[in-house]
Amino acid sequence: MNTTTTITNLLKSRNLKKTTTRVELLTAVMHYGSAMPFSQLQQQLNNTDRITLYRTLKTLVDKGVIHKAYFSQEETYYALCGTTCSHQVHQHDHIHFKCTSCSAVSCVYLEEAPKFTLKDMHVQSININAEGICKACMTVG
Ligand SMILES: [Zn+2]
Ligand SMILES: [Zn+2]
Ligand SMILES: [Zn+2]
Repeated sequence: MNTTTTITNLLKSRNLKKTTTRVELLTAVMHYGSAMPFSQLQQQLNNTDRITLYRTLKTLVDKGVIHKAYFSQEETYYALCGTTCSHQVHQHDHIHFKCTSCSAVSCVYLEEAPKFTLKDMHVQSININAEGICKACMTVG
């Protein structure tokens, strides 16, 4: 399946109209490899005005298509959601790993998802952020 077909199906499954910006944005995120920093998105979608870009990101996050993988003061990183996410709930049983050397952020899937209960509270999602040196940087070093 090519990228366009994948994106068309993805938007359809979330009841979203296929717009140029949505397709461009998702294509960029898919091709990026790791979680995509907002500044990179802005660069690649330089024909899209800022407000449209923000609005598109918000819609795609709300509908469970992409998620904020990591955010710091300087940058927000976006990654694609898996099939466990829907327009109702984001369900991520994975860790977000940020490389302190190359700043790449990736979604790391776990064989066994961490599960715990909190007294008197209902856990809806668990976010785990980890920092360190990624495989590529370790190989170089
Ligand atoms: Zn999600
Ligand atoms: Zn790295
Ligand atoms: Zn993720």
